[in-house]
Amino acid sequence: MADPTYDSNNIFAKILRGEIPSHRVYEDDAIVAFMDVMPQGPGHTLVVPKAQSRNLLDADPAVFGPLFAVVQKVALAVKKAFGADGVTILQFNEPASGQTVYHLHVHVIPRFQGIPLKPHSGQMEKPEVLTENADKIRTELGS
Ligand code: AMP
Repeated sequence: MADPTYDSNNIFAKILRGEIPSHRVYEDDAIVAFMDVMPQGPGHTLVVPKAQSRNLLDADPAVFGPLFAVVQKVALAVKKAFGADGVTILQFNEPASGQTVYHLHVHVIPRFQGIPLKPHSGQMEKPEVLTENADKIRTELGS
């Protein structure tokens, strides 16, 4: 059962409102994508609908079409930008699953044969690395 509470002061809501900075790589009417600041691998990107929901469990199903269309775009872009062998897509719902930020989002992580993911919400990446990686992804997206 989804927890019905949505806190409009969660960190992604603040990013969406432009109240705190992010390394954005994509934006349209419904969706924003930006770099994860504690990447599980180089190029780890978050795809976030602008519509407010705590996670997938309380989301309006109408959001999933536009959301996953952008997930696919970003997955193709990060695969090319980083010369990856594959792409992992992750999405967590509620604390028991590992969710730490309570605004629906999808993780897009380039993968390389034989290289494991770093821990979830592990170590903060240097801003200059995030800037460089965001530039590479934007180049592939043409955004
Ligand atoms: P989840 O555990 O699925 O809720 O994932 C939240 C993700 O947000 C984690 O991978 C964090 O590294 C990431 N994160 C936390 N704060 C920020 C932030 N200010 N900007 C970008 N990513 C963030």
